[in-house]
Amino acid sequence: MNAFTWVFLAALAAATATQLWLSARQIRHVRAHRDTVPPMFAATIPAQAHQKAADYTVAKARLSSGDLCVETAMILALTLGGGIQMLGDLWAKLFAPGTLAHGTALLLSFFLVQAVVGLPLSLYRVFGIEQRFGFNRMTWRLYLSDLAKQTALAIVLGVPLVLALLWLMQHMGSLWWLYAWLVLSAFTVVLQLLFPAVILPLFNKFTPVAEGELAERVQKLLARCGFKARGLYMMDGSKRSSHGNAFFAGFGATKRIVLFDTLVGRLEPPEVEAVLAHELGHYKLHHIVKRIALSLATTLAGLWVLGQLMHEGWFYAGLGVAAPDMAAALALFMLVVPPFTFFLHPLASHFSRRHEFEADAYATSNADPAQLAQALVKLYRDNASTLTPDPLHSAFYDSHPPAAVRISRLRTT
Ligand SMILES: [Zn+2]
Repeated sequence: MNAFTWVFLAALAAATATQLWLSARQIRHVRAHRDTVPPMFAATIPAQAHQKAADYTVAKARLSSGDLCVETAMILALTLGGGIQMLGDLWAKLFAPGTLAHGTALLLSFFLVQAVVGLPLSLYRVFGIEQRFGFNRMTWRLYLSDLAKQTALAIVLGVPLVLALLWLMQHMGSLWWLYAWLVLSAFTVVLQLLFPAVILPLFNKFTPVAEGELAERVQKLLARCGFKARGLYMMDGSKRSSHGNAFFAGFGATKRIVLFDTLVGRLEPPEVEAVLAHELGHYKLHHIVKRIALSLATTLAGLWVLGQLMHEGWFYAGLGVAAPDMAAALALFMLVVPPFTFFLHPLASHFSRRHEFEADAYATSNADPAQLAQALVKLYRDNASTLTPDPLHSAFYDSHPPAAVRISRLRTT
């Protein structure tokens, strides 16, 4: 323990307490508005659906508070509780400390511990809450096969990446963080390219959308927006959940338009067209590229900070690790960054909401805003999204503007 221990504990306590407080506010606010549908939605959302949305929001907020407590306990156990030190000691019986083999084993077991600890709550989310509110379509069999595929994918993609990072830390001197950033950036871009064509098909089926009103409307919309895509597909999202969604995936030559079957089944073709116009807006206004650029910039900053910290004895001593070690530095860094950056959340959410307004404006000029508003109301209703979030909770976390604000903007344009 040293002064840094106290700084870390203060940051962790502040972030955790704030999250629990926001969650309690959200629960209180949603409950207080449970009985009355807001006037602007009174004609379109039945009281019963409104109450279901309130109960669903409360259940999710409770789960996320529970999740947070588990996570905080795990961060403490792995750092000050000596968890990472213990993993390092265990693997030192097989591999010499400081070697690539030791570092890789340490990091993989570190990820495994976190995945195992997170599993019960993930199960409860799917088979408890989603099931209770009628959204889950996942069977145990599908859950397990997803888990197996995700684990295999994490190993295939993650092990080479971990090896490359540790090798660079060892061999590239004081500028290793710059090389590591180049490798991570290349990895991110390649993953974006491979995702729609290689990774998504492992989990879902894609069928080309047949000729008809929807296909025709989408083709016209794409022509109007000057957007070239490699085909229009429908994805069997209903296999896992009845929540509706629309997205298009990929960049450059591999980009394709993908609609969830749950969306197409629920919305009329002109509504789907308006939702898609919004998604195209994100692409045309470079939101996606901006988001990736921002994440690469923060990765660079993070790696630079790690490059400074990994030689400082106080960093290890303050977090329960006896001696400097590359893999331990990476693991500690991943654990302590979130509490220190938590208060940047509102900023990120603010920019995300601004992008949503911009995409809505794009949709307004390329499709019918009334159809978009109507589609959104249906989605709020069917996804049991709350119409009455706590304003502070919303400002902190929500990537999308509150329903009332968004719909009234669309209705007045
Ligand atoms: Zn959007």
